Amino acid sequence: MKTTTEIRSDFLEFFRGKAHTIVPSAPLVPANDPTLLFTNSGMVQFKNVFLGSEKPGYVRAADVQRCLRAGGKHNDLDQVGYTARHHTFFEMLGNWSFGDYFKEDAIAWAWELLTQVWGLPAERLTVTVYHTDDEAYGIWNKKIGVPAERIVRIGDNKGAPFASDNFWQMADTGPCGPCTEIFYDHGAHIAGGPPGSPDEDGDRYIEIWNLVFMQFDRQPDGTLVPLPAPCVDTGMGLERLAAVLQGVHGNYEIDLFRHLIAKAAEFTSTPDLDNKSLRVIADHIRACAFLIVDGVLPSNEGRGYVLRRIIRRALRHGWMLGQKGPFFHRMVAPLVEVMGDAYPELTAKREFVERALLAEEERFAETLDAGMRIFDEVAARSNTTIPGVDAFRLYDTYGFPVDLTADIARERGLSVDMAGFEAAMEQQRETARAAGKFGNAATMPAELAAQLSPTQFLGYDQLADDGLEVVA
Ligand code: ATP
Ligand code: MG
Ligand code: MG
Ligand code: MG
Repeated sequence: MKTTTEIRSDFLEFFRGKAHTIVPSAPLVPANDPTLLFTNSGMVQFKNVFLGSEKPGYVRAADVQRCLRAGGKHNDLDQVGYTARHHTFFEMLGNWSFGDYFKEDAIAWAWELLTQVWGLPAERLTVTVYHTDDEAYGIWNKKIGVPAERIVRIGDNKGAPFASDNFWQMADTGPCGPCTEIFYDHGAHIAGGPPGSPDEDGDRYIEIWNLVFMQFDRQPDGTLVPLPAPCVDTGMGLERLAAVLQGVHGNYEIDLFRHLIAKAAEFTSTPDLDNKSLRVIADHIRACAFLIVDGVLPSNEGRGYVLRRIIRRALRHGWMLGQKGPFFHRMVAPLVEVMGDAYPELTAKREFVERALLAEEERFAETLDAGMRIFDEVAARSNTTIPGVDAFRLYDTYGFPVDLTADIARERGLSVDMAGFEAAMEQQRETARAAGKFGNAATMPAELAAQLSPTQFLGYDQLADDGLEVVA
């Protein structure tokens, strides 16, 4: 069986053999880019290369990029534990051409790696192309020999009933182009349809690799002008690929996650390894540890608030498993065991990460239990919706980020009145403004009063939403 570690190095070796320069992963916090909350794909560190303002010393590169999709435009936090394929933190394998090779080589090499080096059966693979990209269609069909019934043309989803989107753009103007994606069919025993079908969001056909062909420069009036030097940007999820190569269906069944889940089970005394909470804890420790490694600390604004939210979600899952004392920081050691070799910075900062997590665990332990009792009372008298004022009380007095309350509500078939929550929040701001300072020391926990207003966080999210769109 191929281990995740072997797959990482297979990928890099393959592209090294095709004259690619191996580049290290950039941190989760993008350098000099306030428009983007987190590095959410491999292309983030190459943005200026695509825009032409930066020239690296190579035209071909390959890397393994750590990514986070837990805030801003790309947010998979609510998928974790619900699908077989989504994480908050994941690793993206990527190969790049900066004005060098284009569609033909990119497609041929992806196919060679999957079917020859790794031996995946061709009939299990389905590909999508952008609906007008006859060039990519022709390469798949004629050159590679993929039969027409396994090539799906996908639009740019504007107004379409499907989630798929095969056109990539960095922003409203600038470099953009069509993509082609490769899906693996895990078999008819799993629910879900092929890409482009109404039930494509199931977990039968899992998207493993996205190949983006940057070939246009979109003008302010919307027209597409061909780029003088088209580029290739690809991204493949390491965990999804590992699932395929290890013959399992879900990402949480791969070697790396089995280890983390076994440790989470041990630390929370949970006998059932299939318990969803264990998967969530295993996912969240990666996101939290790497955020701290990359310089983020729990706080009430911006990136720090995203980290706090993820930690608190993990702690609530531990609480559900009956774990009332600190446990989450203990997950760092097993994480170092499975990822420390690939990420020496994780090993180096291990103790710092443990201390930061433990501090946050101790802080939240003071209010988690009481907050859960309040939640239960509110839920008992709510038919379908948790009122905004109650969500606000949980937030304000018990330190429950509203998405945590929404997550707990969802498990019980309830939702949260978000507009009501915002209104309660706004009312508090008004009161604070009238009082000439933020917050009311009598009702607000010291930790909240001491920090900036969470509106900072909303502002950041807004910025990310209005700014860059990064797909692959
Ligand atoms: P999906 O449609 O399954 O949500 P995506 O289209 O959003 O995936 P891309 O933006 O194309 O994903 O990213 C490139 C690759 O990164 C995907 O093909 C997949 O293998 C991997 N990937 C994307 N999101 C996640 C995630 N949340 N967890 C793990 N791997 C992911
Ligand atoms: Mg997605
Ligand atoms: Mg997709
Ligand atoms: Mg995709």
